[in-house]
Amino acid sequence: MELIEKLEAGERIGYEEGVWLYDLDLFTLAKYADKRRKELYGKKSFFNINRHINPTNICKDICKFCAFSANRKNPNPYTLSHDEILKIVEEASKRGIKEVHIVSAHNDKAGLEWYMGIFKKIKERFPHIHIKALTAAEVNFLAKEYGLSFEEMIDMMIQSGVDSMPGGGAEIFDEEVREYICKGKVSSDEWLHIHRLWHQKGRKSNATMLFGHVERREHRIDHMLRLRALQDETGGFNCFIPLIYQRENNYLNVQEFVTGQEYLKTIAIARILLDNIPHIKAYWATSTLGLALVAQEFGADDLDGTIEREAIQSAAGAKSRYGVALEEFVALIKDSGFVPVERDSLYNELKVW
Ligand code: SF4
Repeated sequence: MELIEKLEAGERIGYEEGVWLYDLDLFTLAKYADKRRKELYGKKSFFNINRHINPTNICKDICKFCAFSANRKNPNPYTLSHDEILKIVEEASKRGIKEVHIVSAHNDKAGLEWYMGIFKKIKERFPHIHIKALTAAEVNFLAKEYGLSFEEMIDMMIQSGVDSMPGGGAEIFDEEVREYICKGKVSSDEWLHIHRLWHQKGRKSNATMLFGHVERREHRIDHMLRLRALQDETGGFNCFIPLIYQRENNYLNVQEFVTGQEYLKTIAIARILLDNIPHIKAYWATSTLGLALVAQEFGADDLDGTIEREAIQSAAGAKSRYGVALEEFVALIKDSGFVPVERDSLYNELKVW
């Protein structure tokens, strides 16, 4: 069957056809991605009121694309105390956040109790706040550092108050690219297995893909299809988030930045290929707010949130360090012709703005 016929019929797309999707023009892709988006959500665009916290930037790993960890290009190591973290959450709580999104570097000096204590103390003081924390890369690091199985780590996370897992650390699953950009970090199979185990506990998570560096389009399709296969098995992913590689202050030395067109194609292809993952997020911290708003026309139905403060992408050049004010965020979505819907971390609708 021809690719267009399959798209017209809404049939599942395989690997080779997935690669061909990139050869279609942007508006043809938009037609099918937007159709699917409209069937699911009409003009609704989801966001949440959240606070990102990055408690330490001291890292045992040396990913070439990373500008966040303390190293020669970013010689400012820090580790927040529990009290400092609680103060941040307390202040953000007064402003009405519903979620804290906590991602750290792999700090081998902080101790397991420091990591778990963050969640326990936040849950104790702010039981109404959803804790989204620990990427599969962090879970892998902590399990190996402290001689625990992934199952033991996951049980400990749940006991400590972690509600859901963010999608970070996936980067690109292709083993050769992975070896080059983040050697020694969680392997693709381990990343997928940790999410599988998390889903088997009845918990939800997200999945990312870092692109626009040394990978090729085929690698992106392969990445998405590995996620789709796991989602067929567990149904535990809420959202897929393509992250644009940020090129400043790191060791990857990529000169060409991904174009707006390539980003929009990738969003549209994700919506078409990932027929079993409900939400596609345009994460404005890496794409810019303007492009994220345009991505709503290309299959994205989620714009993340107000963020408040963000250290990982902004260290590499993204303009996301101070988040965005709620009123401005809502007005921008409305002005772009969509309906801003505030959601909780599990995509329950809280308020149509
Ligand atoms: S991406 Fe994460 S694991 Fe890799 S060096 Fe940076 S902080 Fe460490």
